[in-house]
Amino acid sequence: MNSPSANDEAEVDQKPDDERTKERKERVIHARIPPGLEEDLKKLADALRMPVSNLIRNILHDTVSAVDRVGQTVEELVDGVSGHVGKEAGDLRRKWARYEAQRGRPAPEAPRPTTKDPLAAVFGFQPIVLNVAAKCAVCGKELARGARANLGLTDRPGRRVFVCDACVPASNE
Ligand SMILES: [Zn+2]
Repeated sequence: MNSPSANDEAEVDQKPDDERTKERKERVIHARIPPGLEEDLKKLADALRMPVSNLIRNILHDTVSAVDRVGQTVEELVDGVSGHVGKEAGDLRRKWARYEAQRGRPAPEAPRPTTKDPLAAVFGFQPIVLNVAAKCAVCGKELARGARANLGLTDRPGRRVFVCDACVPASNE
């Protein structure tokens, strides 16, 4: 059972000719997974009322299309995938809660929404005078055109981060 060479194996399933024609483009992938994961997949498949093989195929398909959809940079890739996975996880949690409820078990507590730090990627602030209306990324205060504000500097392309004077972190010294 434990061949020393492979942790995962892929092979083409042997099928009679007529079935093979029908599933010409499908391949069977055999993958070793730990017993706990198999158990979870079975429970999940049961909860979603679909065969385990369909569930796995959907997960693989969703993951690959999520990767396909997102952009060039690694940050964008990671953001895209985690956003996608987060949404899927929310859907699954609701379905799972329904499944548990049907069996008279209390629904698992939903995890607290992760509040994203708006300054997570910012390494510094550049004081500026705004030429556009903006909002403070931390407190949400409206910043009018002509007002003083601070541009959050990041290494990432993407949305600009403006911060009002009050929300610029102060040194403790
Ligand atoms: Zn602010």
